[in-house]
Amino acid sequence: MSDTIPPRRPSAPEVRLERLTGAAVAEGGYDKAFLPIGATEYHGPSLPYGTDTVTAETLAEAFARDLGGSLVLPSLSYGVSHHHLAWPWTLSLRPDTLALVVRDIAESLLHHGLKKLVIVSAHDGNPPAANVAARILSQEHGMAVAIFSGWQGKARRLLAGERDIDEDHAGQSEMSLVLYAAPETARLDLADHQPNQFMDHPIDLIDSFAGTVPLGYSGNAAGGSAEEGAAIVAALTGLVVPFLRELDERGWKRGTWMSKIE
Ligand SMILES: [Zn+2]
Repeated sequence: MSDTIPPRRPSAPEVRLERLTGAAVAEGGYDKAFLPIGATEYHGPSLPYGTDTVTAETLAEAFARDLGGSLVLPSLSYGVSHHHLAWPWTLSLRPDTLALVVRDIAESLLHHGLKKLVIVSAHDGNPPAANVAARILSQEHGMAVAIFSGWQGKARRLLAGERDIDEDHAGQSEMSLVLYAAPETARLDLADHQPNQFMDHPIDLIDSFAGTVPLGYSGNAAGGSAEEGAAIVAALTGLVVPFLRELDERGWKRGTWMSKIE
């Protein structure tokens, strides 16, 4: 038995707006907001319905702490999950509802003179709606909105050679994030090993997830660990925060520097 203490998600310094007073926010001089978007979605027998929300929150907090000058807005715990409605208690927003909610939040930020918003999505149904919102915010208000998504694929590439990060729904990497960020909600004793889902499609087919993954989850959740969760969060922070720093230095403009042609 290992006597090492599993890594835990840090809770300080506090960056969550819902936990800060007006005085603390005024003293902080924050100019950027992170908006975590998750889902309320069936994640098999061993992971909680809020897995994607906990993941989005954990990543947003890690990015905000490392970057500085940033607050994390209250999470959106509902996402676009129609493709998971085959399983009980999954709750979904329409894509246009989510786009409208994102627009309302961003326009509230603009009202207060805040022009820097980073959306952190940890669920595959959300980015198209976030993208629609971002394009309208850019066109109507000149607001540049950054969208982070696809955490599993990015972590897989970053950690290749060290770890084999899966891209399953409710598999090993999602278990790792939950064991790192909210271990009291996981049932590792109920985790099993299902065939990995095939995802290397030449085209995107929008359909029920039941046609892809009959049980509603796949992968090896039993192989997850808090230590892997911590490694994923650290790797993604190391990828995202330097880019956001550069974006800050360049005034959040999409310019030739992004293509490295200057
Ligand atoms: Zn998930």
